[in-house]
Amino acid sequence: MHELAMAESILNAVIEKSEENHANEVIEVIIEIGKMTMLNGEQIIFMLEVLSEDTMANGAKFIVEEIPIEVKCLGCGFDGKLGSDDLDPYTPLPKCPKCGNLKVNVKNGKDLIVKNIVIDKQSKL
Ligand SMILES: [Zn+2]
Repeated sequence: MHELAMAESILNAVIEKSEENHANEVIEVIIEIGKMTMLNGEQIIFMLEVLSEDTMANGAKFIVEEIPIEVKCLGCGFDGKLGSDDLDPYTPLPKCPKCGNLKVNVKNGKDLIVKNIVIDKQSKL
């Protein structure tokens, strides 16, 4: 399970970015998780909540958006999204849902991206 390592690097990135922007606290974080990463979004949220306890992200709302896998088949030319049943959880290789070809270009769904961070800035009165 890579969830813990991912949660740690997400949190580090969030805090780094927030410090750069002189944040007082982190309000909300939106994370896009591609289906091909096979990461469990709920576990990531849970770990982020635990890991962030002593940081400026304590109490932040973590939102995970799952990104479907999109492929272009080099065999038959199929171009589109894979259904959730098209990926074997034990051998997560995307294949063409139309002809079964494993030679596909993955256009979307293989990355984990911190999409948006909402921060509260220190007010200087
Ligand atoms: Zn195909």
